Amino acid sequence: MEVPFNSFVPMEDALGGDLSAAFDRILTRSRYIQDVECDYFERAFAKFCGVENCVGCGNGLDALMLSLKALGIGPGDEVIVPSNTYIATALAVTYVGATPVFVEPDIQTFNIDPILIDRAVTPRTRAIIPVHLYGQPCNMNAVLETAHKYGLFVVEDCAQAHGAKYRGRRVGSFGDAAGFSFYPGKNLGALGDGGAVVSNNYNTAKRVRMLGNYGSDRKYHHCMLGHNSRLDEMQAAFLSVKLPFLDRMNAVRQDIAKRYMEGIINPLVIMPYVIDDVEPVWHIFAVRCNARDDLALFLSEKGIASGMHYPTPIHLQEAYSYLMLSEGEYPVAEEISRTQLSLPMFYGMTDDQVDLVIECVNSFKG
Ligand SMILES: *Cc1c(COP(=O)(O)O)cnc(C)c1O
Repeated sequence: MEVPFNSFVPMEDALGGDLSAAFDRILTRSRYIQDVECDYFERAFAKFCGVENCVGCGNGLDALMLSLKALGIGPGDEVIVPSNTYIATALAVTYVGATPVFVEPDIQTFNIDPILIDRAVTPRTRAIIPVHLYGQPCNMNAVLETAHKYGLFVVEDCAQAHGAKYRGRRVGSFGDAAGFSFYPGKNLGALGDGGAVVSNNYNTAKRVRMLGNYGSDRKYHHCMLGHNSRLDEMQAAFLSVKLPFLDRMNAVRQDIAKRYMEGIINPLVIMPYVIDDVEPVWHIFAVRCNARDDLALFLSEKGIASGMHYPTPIHLQEAYSYLMLSEGEYPVAEEISRTQLSLPMFYGMTDDQVDLVIECVNSFKG
């Protein structure tokens, strides 16, 4: 038996007919950008998140970048981001001309350590981007408290956490704005690229919409320097097919996570830690192991694929070498990069596949 890291086949088997029908409908209507499908999905997704406004855009990176720009963040400003996130979080800051300031995560939750945010604030700090990494919500009360103390904006990075709850409320509803990615592998994925910004602030959402549509408020009238970043009709229609199944698909991931949590008892493997009062959606099931590379090899020899999220922290990426940050600067992020391993997790994963992963992880002797 082989266990892939991810598979779209069970989702395609369940929803393929509806996805094809959506495709045919749009082909018949011949409207491909900014029409009823995007409008419909934006309303449905705002409702799902429990927020007032949603604006579709091209991808998750743009969702974060447009949010920052809409809030007026730019050159000379600093934005706090976790040191162990995907590079897109930092790039969004860089692309508005601001500087990303890295703050270490709590090694148990993998999420930004709210206590350390305090120490990273300077007179230039304008915003914090908490990332609900691997699908587990950040401690939003602590993040919001620090933000209020210093008058900072909060832009949630929800790219891995569609539907996750903090104290009974969906992520994306806590900050001034939140960015989502609909990259196919995300918990809610399109059949291509896509993204969205949600916000309870009408003006912020309106600015995001203008910025993503060439800075125009009406056709051929441009009141700001904008971008081209829109959610196309095809992707919006596919997302509308998948959204009603999101809670169910997340529940499958939660079941798999529960079985991993109960079944894996290898002392060499550190299991993920879930804080009180949250409902994670397990975009990634992340364990840690000192002999991570050996564990990955051991699993692959038994036909089990695994992943690393992420093998090199952002401050050590060549692209950010100009920030002059060296090894040892963010030891927690570095430790996570060295020891983190992502186990298979996908809708349609069979009980036998889950059992095999548990059995093999438990039989790893280092
Ligand atoms: C995927 C991801 C993004 C970027 O999303 P894209 O749609 O690929 O641009 C941003 N932040 C995090 C944490 C992500 O995982």
